[in-house]
Amino acid sequence: MSDTVKYLLDETRLPKAWYNINADLPEPLAPVLHPGTKQPITPDDLAVIFPRAVIEQEMSTEREIEIPQPVRDVYRQWRPSPLFRARRLEKALDTPARIYYKYEGVSPAGSHKPNTAIAQAFYNQQEGVKRITTETGAGQWGSSLALAGTFFGLEIVVYMVRVSFDHKPYRRAYMESFGAQCIGSPSNTTAAGRAILAEHPDSTGSLGIAISEAVELAAQRDDTKYALGSVLNHVLLHQTVTGIEAKEQMAMADDYPDLIIGCTGGGSNFAGLAFPFLEERLRQGRDIEFIAVEPSACPTLTKGAFAYDFGDTAQLTPLVKMYTLGSGFVPPGFHAGGLRYHGMAPQISHLSKLGLLKPRSYNQLECFAAGIQFAKAEGILPAPEANHAVRGAIHEAEKCREAGESKAILFNLCGHGHFDMQAYMDYSAGKLKDLVYDDSEVAMALAGLPSVG
Ligand SMILES: *Cc1c(COP(=O)(O)O)cnc(C)c1O
Repeated sequence: MSDTVKYLLDETRLPKAWYNINADLPEPLAPVLHPGTKQPITPDDLAVIFPRAVIEQEMSTEREIEIPQPVRDVYRQWRPSPLFRARRLEKALDTPARIYYKYEGVSPAGSHKPNTAIAQAFYNQQEGVKRITTETGAGQWGSSLALAGTFFGLEIVVYMVRVSFDHKPYRRAYMESFGAQCIGSPSNTTAAGRAILAEHPDSTGSLGIAISEAVELAAQRDDTKYALGSVLNHVLLHQTVTGIEAKEQMAMADDYPDLIIGCTGGGSNFAGLAFPFLEERLRQGRDIEFIAVEPSACPTLTKGAFAYDFGDTAQLTPLVKMYTLGSGFVPPGFHAGGLRYHGMAPQISHLSKLGLLKPRSYNQLECFAAGIQFAKAEGILPAPEANHAVRGAIHEAEKCREAGESKAILFNLCGHGHFDMQAYMDYSAGKLKDLVYDDSEVAMALAGLPSVG
């Protein structure tokens, strides 16, 4: 058996449906509330910014949702993505653990994000939308939507968090090569952006602010909708294509994971790999553990409050019940830009609250060290976000060594780090520090949580 479990790129191996975990939750999610009335939101409320098909998926409790053929036709370019056994890493760690990783860096944009970008662009095009606005942190989501926009003939406008906009010119150039417009956020093109700049002219930006700007622009024109790259149910749904493939690939490797690990910014890549396995735990009682890894500098699941909050800083979005550090919290400007978000997917938050997944946080230096150790063994340099999953996997493999226990560990290597070389240069030069989030700022942001009856 080869250590690379990549079956032939043939149509028949590509999943035909995504898996919707809403069908199997032991308790349903708390309702999403209208920000003004604080009553459960209706599909009509959401139709201002999302296409109907996406809203239906957001609210669906059907277990399987068909992947449209035009979406599968694009997926086929890189899907099924490979699943590898990390034999050289196992050897380097001298661990009895069996370490596997699902590699999403093989997509054209270099991460898992196109799995949902392609689907969302397709549904928008079907409903006659001409333009999509969005935000991006490190640039992975903006790149993925720019790519999807080209395939489906849509104009794309991306608000890019200022700190990344300044530090990652290649990401911007990538988006612009596909014809997308990329604007540093906060910007003076929206009321939300201008309000932030008036108070903090040097703002490094945040995903919360960039979302406000993108939503504001989308709400102004009928031919324009908004797309989110993580957090919402439909995004996590689209990502399950990775876990569905991984189940089949683990079976081909004649193994089954004891432990599934992923990094969590908004929760989508972790959910994508974990949910199809969680289905087997929920419905068949399989013994399997799930670990969600986040940065210590933005510790949403480990230190946040489980409460209703806004998804953005200007408080334009619906209220969702989630773990949050407060929508006013601006995380420090560390390098894993995709993990700098104040909130967490409602589905991930709910599962964490129910004890079905275990959250954990690591500092950035230990994550970069893990990423480099991984690269030296496996030859793939991970995205700084993915380094958190790598750190988690190595930590667990080391525990197996101490305990003399052979577990199968599967993690999501959600992207490569080829656009993140500045971060690696700073790390090698000893310029990176372990940032601590500001307790008092979090307390202040949490004091501002909306009151909900
Ligand atoms: C966007 C991104 C993340 C964080 O988002 P999730 O929704 O938590 O997956 C993590 N890793 C990479 C490579 C990303 O691009």
